[in-house]
Amino acid sequence: MLISHSRNVTYSPAYTIVPTHECFNRCTYCNFRADPGKSPWISILEAENLFKQLQTQNICEILILSGEVHPHSSQRQAWFQRIYDLCDLAFSMGFLPHTNAGPLSFEEMQRLRDVNVSMGLMLEELTPALLETVHRHAPSKLPEVRLQQLQWAGELKIPFTTGLLLGIGETEDDWWETLEAIAHMHQRYHHIQEVILQPHSPGSQQTFDAPPFDPLQLPFVIFKARQILPPDITIQIPPNLVKDERWLLACLEAGARDLGGIGPKDEVNPDYPHLREEELRDILQPAGWELVPRLPVYPHLDDFLSMELQVAVQRWRVTYSRRVG
Ligand code: SF4
Repeated sequence: MLISHSRNVTYSPAYTIVPTHECFNRCTYCNFRADPGKSPWISILEAENLFKQLQTQNICEILILSGEVHPHSSQRQAWFQRIYDLCDLAFSMGFLPHTNAGPLSFEEMQRLRDVNVSMGLMLEELTPALLETVHRHAPSKLPEVRLQQLQWAGELKIPFTTGLLLGIGETEDDWWETLEAIAHMHQRYHHIQEVILQPHSPGSQQTFDAPPFDPLQLPFVIFKARQILPPDITIQIPPNLVKDERWLLACLEAGARDLGGIGPKDEVNPDYPHLREEELRDILQPAGWELVPRLPVYPHLDDFLSMELQVAVQRWRVTYSRRVG
């Protein structure tokens, strides 16, 4: 049955650039990391050539997604500078950067604020129980370290994306506790723009031996999350991890309204290719949903940004309003 009225669900036309896969943490569900020293860093020249090709492809967001160099490593400063330079380059070539590079120092975050329209870090789950299991060898996954990132982002007025990873050994109560912590932080700083609910989806590189998160539970989690989170926080789900289209639609009915960055590759879940925009439209339109592009910063947070960033954001808003009609 065709439904005549349409409702909007957003996505970000994005490209993910990985400065390096090397990471000093070893989360057992990871399908991204390489050992320190085993993943060459992308050079600025390589990135420039890549961005030139992307300039004609209607891509707005450059997601800078990096493995982590230890805060006390002699390589940390060079690693941070490479990330900063990649953001600066992307911005100077007309894109809007969004960085997710693990926990940063306050000063690092402050510097990246100048060249990012938003930033992100998954809280995953706040329960310390996971430090005995999947995060036993992942010092960056200390819950208090991650919560502090949300606080610093708020103090620095950085539009921020966070989220939960579901199905890594937590309990149901852990979900609500984590969501409540996000809601509480947002009530103080009003800076969280979206919360990703990411179902654990086993990949070919991970050592964590557990089934995928049951997709039948996802609409229920979204429904409850919608009750816990303030209304100005959008709930995002990754459509490539919700394979059955009936459940994808059920997630939207339950309150999800964003499908995240859609690009050539999901770097975090490389075994799960993104659906193309046309494929998503074919699923959504018959059910009355319209797929609408968005920027990596939500309009109500534009005024958090420097004037230089705001001017670039406005240019993209005009472009998208023409595309949407
Ligand atoms: S999940 Fe992130 S922090 Fe953990 S090992 Fe992988 S890249 Fe590193």
